Amino acid sequence: MSSADATSPASAPATRASVLIVGAGLTGSLLACLLGEAGWEVELVERRADPRVGPPQAGRSINLAISARGLQALRRAGLEAAVLAQAVRMPGRIIHDRAGRTQFQPYSAGQRHAINSINRGVLNRLLAERAAACPSVRLAFDERCVAVDMNRPSASFRHEATGAMREVSADLVVATDGAYSVIRDSMQKREQFEYSQEWLHAGYKELTMAPAEDANDAWENEGRWRMDPNGLHIWPRGESMMIALANAEGSFTCTLFWPHEGLHSFNSLAGDASIRARLERDYPDVLALIPDAVEQYRANHVGHMVTVKCSPWHVNGKVALLGDAAHAIVPFFGQGANCGFEDCEALADSLFECGGDWHAALDRYQELRKRHADAIADLARQNFHEMSHHTATLRYKLRKQVDHLMHRLMPRVWIPLYEMISFTTIPYDDARERAARQWRWLWFGAGVVVGLVGLGAAAAYLVARKG
Ligand SMILES: Cc1cc2nc3c(=O)[nH]c(=O)nc-3n(C[C@H](O)[C@H](O)[C@H](O)COP(=O)(O)OP(=O)(O)OC[C@H]3O[C@@H](n4cnc5c(N)ncnc54)[C@H](O)[C@@H]3O)c2cc1C
Repeated sequence: MSSADATSPASAPATRASVLIVGAGLTGSLLACLLGEAGWEVELVERRADPRVGPPQAGRSINLAISARGLQALRRAGLEAAVLAQAVRMPGRIIHDRAGRTQFQPYSAGQRHAINSINRGVLNRLLAERAAACPSVRLAFDERCVAVDMNRPSASFRHEATGAMREVSADLVVATDGAYSVIRDSMQKREQFEYSQEWLHAGYKELTMAPAEDANDAWENEGRWRMDPNGLHIWPRGESMMIALANAEGSFTCTLFWPHEGLHSFNSLAGDASIRARLERDYPDVLALIPDAVEQYRANHVGHMVTVKCSPWHVNGKVALLGDAAHAIVPFFGQGANCGFEDCEALADSLFECGGDWHAALDRYQELRKRHADAIADLARQNFHEMSHHTATLRYKLRKQVDHLMHRLMPRVWIPLYEMISFTTIPYDDARERAARQWRWLWFGAGVVVGLVGLGAAAAYLVARKG
């Protein structure tokens, strides 16, 4: 058993868990559900307030898109139906041009598949409720992890309000404390720990489009949304873009992705007039729907986006990283949480199957996930460029049509990359390789056809000349 930290101003009794999870965000809470369901002793400790009480805490984005991978993991925790009941279905993209015209681009042929927009606070609350319903799971809030002991292993927490310290020891400590993980920071000080971080040149700022006052102001006089809720809205503007996702209660979360620096950057706008002029120029159709856009712009902070890759994901089978703590990615494939949810399944399965050999379990977990987490990190960065530059171009639209046509003709052989990532659970790196292979085959096939046609034409010409 562990002992309480002697230096604390008012030490609470120490506790012991079989698994200590640090950070009750999306992945920490889901992991607690999966382990708790299996009867494991789990303690889940979070620095923020309990999401089950009071208004949602400010997070890194108001809503997010959950797709096949996330849904599969949520299903395992018995939460899929509850999550979908609170989500808005988005079977495609809705592209807005500068003149305010829109074009719907389905994600899959016949709109069979959709991603699902859900409020982050609602999702976190559902996960926390589910975890709390497991008798072997203890939850603690308002306690910030300030140190980790990799050898015992244990973690020390400081209460956010009282300053009281306590230490929790466990057989295994799992860090799910997000992209700026303090536990990963401690690992970085160890020898042989590989680490890279890459900041995106663009940041993000959220604006909320409030629900319509009454049905007459609503989109197609239905519900309370001011735009079509069933699509991921994109305003592609080259170096920058805005997206908007519907929330179930009728609002939209609009997110500006702009460069931090430069001509059309966040830092280039000083006064209200320049903010309004920029919004009017790039998003004329939305400005009328968000009357307080300039006030919101001034009030809301600019978020930063980082890609983090590191290895190994565990120290001696005692402390492990999961979710954004292991692999923060930029949000342009809508996969950060989905990927973290897959991690939860892989870690839980590895632990269940290892027969108590934690080291082997964590090696297995990293082997299952690392390559694929790196792949989706790269794909997500590339997708920023695709969404902001290409979605409105003819070349992009043609390519999408070919992608969908090939899928229709050969559904088992050809699956578009976006579909593999969002609507299947094919591991990310396998999906990336397969998509590249599909296009290589297509270009090769097209080359052969062109060659044969050329040869045929040449032969016909020669025959005609002889005759
Ligand atoms: C703008 C934006 C849009 C996004 N959109 C999508 C999307 O559409 N689809 C998708 O799948 N993903 C999306 N993501 C990514 C997604 O938000 C993350 O991948 C996901 O939240 C990671 O979950 P996590 O549990 O690993 O980390 P987090 O959700 O960050 O949770 C970490 C938790 O740890 C707590 N914590 C941190 N430090 C400590 C500490 N010292 N002690 C105790 N607790 C601590 C935090 O308070 C938090 O609750 C988006 C991200 C951004 C920024």
